[in-house]
Amino acid sequence: MKITKIDMIYPQVGALIEGEQVPCIWVQVHTDEGITGLGETYPLGEAERGVIRGRFASTLIGQNPLEIERLWQEMFNQIRWHGWAGAELRAISAIDIALWDIYGKVTGQPIYQLLGGKSRDRVRTYNTCYDHRYDFNNVENNGAGKLAKELLDSGIQAMKVWPFDGVGNKNRGQFITNADIEIGLKPVQQIREAVGDDIEIALEFHGLWNVPSAIKIAHALEPYNVMWLEEMIPQDNMKAYATLADNVLQPLCISERLMTRYQFRELIELGIPQFIMPDICWCGGITEARKIAVLADTYYLPIAPHNCGGPVLHVASIHLTTHLINLFILESVRRHYLVHYDNLVTGLAPVEEGHLIPPKGPGLGIELKPQVLDAPGIEIETIGE
Ligand SMILES: [Mg+2]
Repeated sequence: MKITKIDMIYPQVGALIEGEQVPCIWVQVHTDEGITGLGETYPLGEAERGVIRGRFASTLIGQNPLEIERLWQEMFNQIRWHGWAGAELRAISAIDIALWDIYGKVTGQPIYQLLGGKSRDRVRTYNTCYDHRYDFNNVENNGAGKLAKELLDSGIQAMKVWPFDGVGNKNRGQFITNADIEIGLKPVQQIREAVGDDIEIALEFHGLWNVPSAIKIAHALEPYNVMWLEEMIPQDNMKAYATLADNVLQPLCISERLMTRYQFRELIELGIPQFIMPDICWCGGITEARKIAVLADTYYLPIAPHNCGGPVLHVASIHLTTHLINLFILESVRRHYLVHYDNLVTGLAPVEEGHLIPPKGPGLGIELKPQVLDAPGIEIETIGE
């Protein structure tokens, strides 16, 4: 079996399908046996497309797509200068997912089975409140409290909000006043007033803060029993993260912006986070996310994968977390999987009491809908035969 060509399916800026923004670039890897594999990454399609066109296509075409580990290493060997975080790793991630999809279709098995089978029938998820910013403008009418009730009623027992981002952007993360602390706390208070401790609350900070501001915010959040504090500071200085960890009581969750097992190793060995958050479409694909999870498990740490992209990331994350023993919880965006992804792919499995289940078909179990390929603003570039 040989790889014959690679399609890069690239939504131009502003492309809409069924009125929704398309969040990602897809790759479709073709073989001489007519089997294709689907992969995805995001958010800078032109950069990732350039890497595949200029570097990886010639490495892959003519090769056996089932030699996933070898092909991963051959792609990685071409780009291993220090840092790695960038379009190159995102391109490897997209290709890797497509190769696992091919492996599944060749064997007639879902990806979770190829990884070693199920550790659970359905995956616990929390809702990232992507369409509800909960910053300065969004606390009227108890929006956060109402949403918490609605989520609990649907079986979802945890939610993530980022109410300090507004002031973080305004002050460039350099300071926070007591008045701004009170504003940031408001949605968290609304959730606790609405449902008590019945729902878990994750606080996301998008790496916006310096160390003293992060410590001040964490202390203010102590009465609210939060699930974790995510990316309070940028991810480039692990000693600074260690200082933060030494000065806050809550568990830290880090980080979708680290790539490969090598970057996660330092973080894990320093004992900084309690929750490890790789993104399959960024960290190096299913192959690498699995290694990161195993590395975390050697330190008795669970993973909580980042999942805030397109439908392939969503489904690949469900396959991986259906398999992995050391899963804490998987992120998801309710609006994406209830509305948006259905416009893009076939084969999604229904949500079961607020839990995610993998599609039934082999490989990923999903395919892009034909109308996606014909949609205005979608460009397809093919490299190969
Ligand atoms: Mg995050």
